[in-house]
Amino acid sequence: MKEVQILDKKFREFITELKIREKVQELALKINTDLKGREVLFIAVLNGAFMFAADLFKRIDLKASITFIKLSSYRGTCSSGSVRELIGWNEELKGRTVVIVEDIVDTGETLEYTFNYISGRNVSDIKVVTLLLKPAAYRRNIKLDYIGFEIPNDFVVGYGLDYDGFGRNLPSVYKIML
Ligand code: 5GP
Repeated sequence: MKEVQILDKKFREFITELKIREKVQELALKINTDLKGREVLFIAVLNGAFMFAADLFKRIDLKASITFIKLSSYRGTCSSGSVRELIGWNEELKGRTVVIVEDIVDTGETLEYTFNYISGRNVSDIKVVTLLLKPAAYRRNIKLDYIGFEIPNDFVVGYGLDYDGFGRNLPSVYKIML
C-alpha cells in the first residue's frame, strides 16, 4: 500500500492510476455516445479538475472546445461553506451544449453555483461529469449525469486535488489516514 505524507497529514492510496484511466475512458465513451453529432463546450472547474479535464478531453471525439473557470470554497481539509465569485469568464453560452467538468462533488454547493450561473445563460443543454462524488455529503438536487467513483466522506488528495496547495501532482487518488 502506497502512503504519502503531505504537510502534517498522512494519506494512503485509494484509487490507482489504472482504475482512474479505465474510468476516464468509460466516462468519455458515454459522453461521446450521448452527445454524438453535437458541438460541445466543456467547462472545467479549476483548480482541482485540471488533470481530470485534460485526460477526459483527450478521449472526446466530438466537435468540442474547452474553457476553465475558477471558484473555490475549500481551505485545508474541510469546506468553508461559502463559494467565492466565479472568475475567468468570457464565453458566449447561448444555444450551446455544455458539459461541466468537476473533480469532486462534496456538498454540491460549488456545483450548484456553477450550474445556476451557466443555466441562466440560455444554453440548450447542460450535462455534469464528476470524477468523484461523496454521496453522504451531497445535499443538492442537481443531476450528476456522469459519475466516476462514489467515495466515502473522507478527505482525498491527488490527481489534481490538493491539501493546502500540495499533492495535486500525485497520479492516483489518496485518502486521509485517520
Ligand atoms: P462542495 O462545494 O461540493 O462542498 O465542495 C466542492 C469543492 O470542495 C471541490 O471542487 C474541491 O475543491 C473541494 N473538495 C471537496 N471535497 C474534497 C476532498 O476530499 N479533497 C479535496 N482536496 N478537495 C475537496
